[in-house]
Parts: sequence; structure tokens; C-alpha cells
Amino acid sequence: MLSIRQLEAGYGKVKVLHGIDIDVPKGKVVTLIGSNGAGKTTTMRAISGMIQATAGQITLGDKRIEQLPPHRIARLGLAHSPEGRRVFATLSVVDNLRLGAFPRYTGSRPRGDIEADLERAMDLFPRLQERRLQLAGTLSGGEQQMLAMARAVMLNPELVLLDEPSMGLAPILVEEVFRIIARLKEQGVTMLLVEQFAAAALNVADYAYVLENGHISVHGPAEQLKTDPAVKAAYLGGS
Ligand code: ATP
Repeated sequence: MLSIRQLEAGYGKVKVLHGIDIDVPKGKVVTLIGSNGAGKTTTMRAISGMIQATAGQITLGDKRIEQLPPHRIARLGLAHSPEGRRVFATLSVVDNLRLGAFPRYTGSRPRGDIEADLERAMDLFPRLQERRLQLAGTLSGGEQQMLAMARAVMLNPELVLLDEPSMGLAPILVEEVFRIIARLKEQGVTMLLVEQFAAAALNVADYAYVLENGHISVHGPAEQLKTDPAVKAAYLGGS
């Protein structure tokens, strides 16, 4: 589904990623863990075209995407739920979700059934269902985070990039976010997940990569990384 080879990217003269390889197979959940500043968000931005790769290849399905602009990549079925709560504050919940489906339109006709997918998103996120006509800017932080995730789902994507979906959430909402990720996984949605809660990410993921200073230091099945002494010491609170 997604294959990254020798990816390099950064900001201006500052190189953040020094040639990383990542594979996300269809239907699988892959997690990228690493400490603050390791380059996780930068990886997500390079995949979705928000920043340009300076070297290497990114392949989505059978298409090379590392030179494409973000809207072309979105049309190929890649949804990016970015770090932070990027919702349209002055639009209602339901209008934010409809906008998420925008890349599915070619001319006036959408691909698939947008209204059915809207109901599916509401079903996944009951908190949003209760607030469908509320302006997004008046939602709580956690609800806005969920709206950002639900909007990514509205693309009916081949692949979802989830960047720290639990950031800043109360523990009960963190649990809810991970339940939703597990449900999306059951529905066969392919995901690349960046998470500060490495233990929870490893529980839901099939495979994991550890990013350190812009290099992949360790990778393997999530089950295996959970018991890796170095990973445990560095990312799982040593327990
Ligand atoms: P965190 O868990 O703290 O979000 P991260 O692994 O996602 O960390 P990145 O956000 O990818 O890390 O940042 C990697 C490096 O790139 C950091 O040193 C950061 O300061 C730098 N960086 C990130 N965004 C920019 C930017 N827009 N301009 C310049 N440097 C940036």
C-alpha cells in the first residue's frame, strides 16, 4: 500500500529525516514511535506532500507520490489527520465532515456514497452525532480532535495518517480514540499512526518502527517491540 525508501526531508537547510524506509501493507496498522523532535510529524508531512522530500521515494499503491502536491495525493486516497486540532471553526460538525469528502469529487460527481459515509462516521463517533449542527469552534478540544479524525475517514481513504490523535486528551477520551482506531482497523482501514502513548499504539498496531534523530533504529512486529528491552526502557516507561 505505502512504501517509503531512503526518504530525506527537512525544513530549509535543516535536514530532519536522513534516509528512512517504512512499509505500510494494506489493511494493517503500523505505528511510528520516537521521542520529541525525532521527526515523526515531519515523516507524516512528507508523505502527504505538505513538505517536499529532498531525496528518496514514496509509493502509494502503484504511484510515486513524492513529487505530487497535497491535493493530488489526497485524491489518490491518502487522508492526513494532522497534529493539533485543524477544524473549520465557523462551520458545523456536519459541514466539516462533508468538506472531508471534497477530494472525492471529480466535477460535480463524488466517488461513492457521501451521505452513507457521513452516517458511518457519525456511528463511529457518537459524540459528533450528538453535536452535528454545533459550530466546530465551540467543540471541546477532545471533540475537535475526534472531528479531525472523522473528517479523515470521510475521504473513504486507502490509507489514513493519524498524527498524535490522543494529544492533549483526558484519559477517558484517549481510551475512546484507541477504541475508534481498533474499530477502523476491524473495518479494514490501513493506518500509519504516530502516538506519544507508545504502549497503547503497540497494542493496536501490527508492526512498529522506532525513529531516533531522523533514522529508523529498530523495527519489527508490534508484539516483538513490546518486549524489546531497549524499546521498553526508552518508550514504555521501563515496565
Ligand atoms: P513531537 O513528538 O515533539 O511532535 P516529532 O518526532 O513529531 O516530535 P517533528 O515535529 O517531526 O518531530 O520535528 C523534527 C525536527 O524538525 C525538530 O527539531 C523540529 O524543531 C523541526 N521542525 C519541525 N517543524 C519545523 C518547521 N516548520 N520549521 C523548522 N523546523 C521544524
